[in-house]
Amino acid sequence: MTAQILDGKGLAEIIRAEIKEDVARFVAETQVQPGLAVVLVGENPASQVYVRNKEAACVKAGMKSVMRRLPTETTTEELLALVAEMNADPTIHGILIQLPLPKGIDEQRVLDAIDPEKDVDAFHPENVGLISQGRPRFLPCTPYGVQQILVRSNIETKGKRVAILGRSDIVGKPMALLLLQKGIGADATVTVCHSRTENLAEILREADIVVAAIGKPEFVTGDMLKPGAVVIDVGINRVEKDGVDENGAPIKVSKLVGDVDFESAKEVASAITPVPGGVGPLTVTMLLLNALNAARRQTAAAQASK
Ligand code: NDP
Repeated sequence: MTAQILDGKGLAEIIRAEIKEDVARFVAETQVQPGLAVVLVGENPASQVYVRNKEAACVKAGMKSVMRRLPTETTTEELLALVAEMNADPTIHGILIQLPLPKGIDEQRVLDAIDPEKDVDAFHPENVGLISQGRPRFLPCTPYGVQQILVRSNIETKGKRVAILGRSDIVGKPMALLLLQKGIGADATVTVCHSRTENLAEILREADIVVAAIGKPEFVTGDMLKPGAVVIDVGINRVEKDGVDENGAPIKVSKLVGDVDFESAKEVASAITPVPGGVGPLTVTMLLLNALNAARRQTAAAQASK
């Protein structure tokens, strides 16, 4: 069996076109342009790429992008002051602090200081609580993107066994919360695995859907999967692979791979996301959707209070 490739890049383009239309309609109706602020502290090269992608996607969707770059030596107090300024700015509807923050900054304090109505990453405890109660304000971007891949590819989750690898607050845990809610793209029976899980391969082999988010290159191999399973690979890992130069001489090539060994997994799975071009493009897309929804909510609240 060779798996269907779930084209996240193509799906992201479709959803971004929908968002662009919705933004244009919203601006025409309200004369308010949704604004997303992205804060980057320090020089992390991967973060710089992510931030540039977010900024470009935001502008392309017709939203205002506010980019704030701060030096590595920024203090927690200085960052808190910037968050307070952005919380009070009515032209900024969503605030994203690019993680990881440099060592020495109290990440939790900074994230907790974001107005929950502007918390488009859905990391604030109030938003996490609402998600866990099944009445979300915003959904966290990466798990939301994974759910969109499943729903829009007509992959049934109701009653299915899902194994999630990874229990981070950004991916694994909220992914589990989304899939075990009632409704479309949910109603699953969820097992969350982590570094202390025993008999991991046994658990994976029972799963109809596997979501891998552990940050370990090509960890999940075809022999760990149930034949016909759907595999969603969240991992993004840069590795050195053997290659050849233009003269055929062996060289090391830098390459992005997921947490799943794509070559062996695609022979066992019924559908699989590639890396790159799978989950990644959806994450930025769902951020745009959250920013639009934040603008809708804040504009409605401002009108109601007039
Ligand atoms: P974290 O490092 O925060 O969490 C990793 C999780 O994997 C932990 O829960 C850890 O367990 C678990 N884990 C590590 N090793 C194993 C193992 N051998 N077996 C089972 N579980 C293991 O990572 P993130 O959740 O932030 O990210 C995961 C991956 O997803 C990374 O590659 C990251 O780059 C990528 N990512 C991709 C995004 C996208 O848009 N596509 C967005 C966000 C992340 P424990 O808790 O016990 O330590």
